[in-house]
Amino acid sequence: MMGAPGAGKGTQAKLLEERFKVPHISTGDMLREAVQADTPLGREAAQIIQQGLLVPDDLVIRIVDERLQKAAGGFILDGFPRTVAQAEALDELLTRRQQPLNAVIEIAVPRDEVVLRLSRRRVCRSCGTMFNTAFQPPEGPCDRCGGELYQREDDREDTVRRRLEVFRQETAPVLAHYKKKGLLRRVSGTGSPADVFGRIATEVQ
Ligand code: AMP
Repeated sequence: MMGAPGAGKGTQAKLLEERFKVPHISTGDMLREAVQADTPLGREAAQIIQQGLLVPDDLVIRIVDERLQKAAGGFILDGFPRTVAQAEALDELLTRRQQPLNAVIEIAVPRDEVVLRLSRRRVCRSCGTMFNTAFQPPEGPCDRCGGELYQREDDREDTVRRRLEVFRQETAPVLAHYKKKGLLRRVSGTGSPADVFGRIATEVQ
């Protein structure tokens, strides 16, 4: 799943996980868990995430490599690869495992819309479900598990601006990488999550 921060990658990846019964692998979630657990990786990543910058390629590639070893039956990658170097490393490790990508979905959302979505996003501390305060009051609780909702530190305005700039510079070239390989499927990310899911499901049937 590719797309700018706030495009809906996480939401759509969770829906795909439910529909196709393959694990949703989010490098952002894995890194936040490492920060929470205060592991050496988490300590290295914490500041970088807070600043809206990218964690070094070698660290992220290592955690994806380890996680993919437990995903022989397929996977949905969300938030990875985010640089051309990560995309090349992924190509290499999937070729080694003879487990090619079926499709790369780009969720396209206008810039103003992603800024608005990120400023309104709240995440459940317990189950990770994402909410938009336009539909669910920020005080919560989560209507799936009753957990507390919070705003991610990196969803604050100036960090959002930096993340979008990093996306433009570092991640947009990854789209060209997959376009060249004929794997890229671009879908509009506007409308409800169910609308967007319908478009994606058509592309991955
Ligand atoms: P996300 O939840 O995907 O928006 O990721 C949150 C943050 O984690 C990003 O802004 C980066 O700091 C870091 N991160 C997640 N995935 C990667 C990646 N593939 N490469 C580098 N940094 C990443």
